[in-house]
Amino acid sequence: MLKNKILCWYGKDPFEAGQILMESSGIWENWSFSDHIGLKPNLVVSKKASSGATTHPEFCAGIITFLQKKGFHNISILEGSWVGDRTERAFKVCGYSDISKKYSVPLVDLQQDTSVLCEGSKGEYRICQSILELDRLINIPVLKGHCQTGMTCALKNLKGCIPDSEKKRYHREGLFQAIADLNEILQSDLILVDALEGDPDFEEGGNPFTLNLFMAALDPVLLDTYACSLLGLKTSDVPYIKKAVALGVGSSALSADTLHALNKGEGLDNLQQSSLAAAISGHINEKGACSACFSSLTQALKQMQEERLPLPETVCIGQGFKKKTLDGPGVGDCLSGCSSFVPGCPPEPYQIVNYLKNK
Ligand code: SF4
Repeated sequence: MLKNKILCWYGKDPFEAGQILMESSGIWENWSFSDHIGLKPNLVVSKKASSGATTHPEFCAGIITFLQKKGFHNISILEGSWVGDRTERAFKVCGYSDISKKYSVPLVDLQQDTSVLCEGSKGEYRICQSILELDRLINIPVLKGHCQTGMTCALKNLKGCIPDSEKKRYHREGLFQAIADLNEILQSDLILVDALEGDPDFEEGGNPFTLNLFMAALDPVLLDTYACSLLGLKTSDVPYIKKAVALGVGSSALSADTLHALNKGEGLDNLQQSSLAAAISGHINEKGACSACFSSLTQALKQMQEERLPLPETVCIGQGFKKKTLDGPGVGDCLSGCSSFVPGCPPEPYQIVNYLKNK
């Protein structure tokens, strides 16, 4: 039923959505009861799902309830938050510690995991060992915007499955190819998307937009292609999609038969991105910035814009500026060669605001 399809369920109840999408996918019918099943939500930061940043815990609870009723009991939840936050904290803040207790499902902090060097057709990448040891991987992203990659959904959510050192390397050497390569090596058995109220502009949330949509699919490229259209983006705005197609990860060919609605939509609307993210990006000169660092800077510039403070013409950020002598201003320890910079790895938004206000 799922091949070349995206199942859509419209509604406000993540728990119900998790159960219905699992049932409708039918994918579990070929799984063994002894399989170790891993759920990989998006807990990139320690913020509740209502912020638009993270996967609703009730969605995962619905998925777990369904699996346990069917007789699958070897289930874990695995995640590695971004560099700059701690997964352990995200598990607590986002409600996953409670789920772990209620359903007796262990939490695996991938920031503390060992990793294995894996070979893709374009290079070698380290992936967390616990992810590689799973028999089944259910990828559970949030549909939301992203300042550096345009959007984040199925393909990019797997970035939480690699060590922090590797996340930094991805940003340093080029995020787009690395995301495509990661998906060539690591495939999900099922993708269940939480598009209830993701933030259309920022990965770290703060500006949730209610879409009341949950989706299931096997093909991460197909899902991300549709996700682009929901965000008002072209696939060319998200370069890792084309790179993933080139590697044979999936297909970006949406057709009239792709979408299969399981119920009627409740006032479905498109999650159009605001012009805010684009306006802020125009003030940033970025070379290989880590997500958390870039996010701190965008949050700071957003705050300054809301307070009607003048924005600097350009702020430099990222690992590509390491050891470079610049006039500044710069953000993060990588910019220590600037005449003046905000220290931190990553710095906090308030530190950046204070610094820029006093420049
Ligand atoms: S200072 Fe450099 S290494 Fe540290 S978070 Fe920022 S970009 Fe990454």
